[in-house]
Amino acid sequence: MAWFKKTKKPIAAKAKEKTSRVPEGLWVKCPDCAQAIYNKDLATNQHVCPKCGHHFRIGAAERLRTLFDGEWMEYDKDLTSTDPLAFTDTKPYKARLKASAAATGLKDAVITASGAIDGIDAIVASMEYEFIGGSMGVVVGEKITRAIERAADGKLPLVIVCCSGGARMMEGALSLMQMAKICGALARLDREGLPYVAVLTDPTTGGVTASFAMLGDLNIAEPKALIGFAGPRVIEQTIRQKLPEGFQRSEFLLEKGMIDLVIDRREMKTVIVNALMFMGAKRKPLATVAPPVVTTSEPPLVPTIAPST
Ligand SMILES: [Zn+2]
Repeated sequence: MAWFKKTKKPIAAKAKEKTSRVPEGLWVKCPDCAQAIYNKDLATNQHVCPKCGHHFRIGAAERLRTLFDGEWMEYDKDLTSTDPLAFTDTKPYKARLKASAAATGLKDAVITASGAIDGIDAIVASMEYEFIGGSMGVVVGEKITRAIERAADGKLPLVIVCCSGGARMMEGALSLMQMAKICGALARLDREGLPYVAVLTDPTTGGVTASFAMLGDLNIAEPKALIGFAGPRVIEQTIRQKLPEGFQRSEFLLEKGMIDLVIDRREMKTVIVNALMFMGAKRKPLATVAPPVVTTSEPPLVPTIAPST
């Protein structure tokens, strides 16, 4: 028998968490350096942490805003998947499509558009991670292929911003076929001698890495982006070896010669423009900006000002 009897204390309810007085969504905590950043400051800094340079993931439209000078023309906005396999996992694919469309305002995981990048007319495809992990199904494949063909026909340079978990399993082999289709179109672009810059953002994996993401004349990655084919866990289990530090991150891949450059998002546009110019892209003639030709035979028009009384 024990000398002392321990009376069981009832489990105390957790002290009520202090309610924050800051309205939700005003501040964002950097996952890297834990700095609290004012949301608007983050937006003006292209969603890069001002303290440590952590690159937050951004949406497809936001990405186009950082690249294009102003307005852009979007193509194939209304292409949607028909759910060819009538696929259901934890929930029907059709329901997933609907939910993603409601969340992002897009019909699938990519926006393809044309516009000017620092005066250079170009075609840009930008992937949206929030739409089923930026996965590549038939719609993504078709939109990117059409974008490449538009670039080839219009003799325009091409930029693809990759952000994807890979091929879309809900469309099975049909999504895998997109890899070959896109690569075929890129080969045509190459034969036309037109530049293609691939921008690899966090994450670029699976079938996207295994096809167009690695086929750029220049493959540029954002800092610390996860870029790879299979995930590190799968590789570790297969080769039964511990993987090195920083494996499948941009800097590691640059060191090993898998990619050409690692560029801060805030410098990305300038680097792309320089690369495109180097590869022969031309800026639009500045006809609209040039001063109007003044003929000297006639006196210049002087605005008449009504005399004030
Ligand atoms: Zn930070």
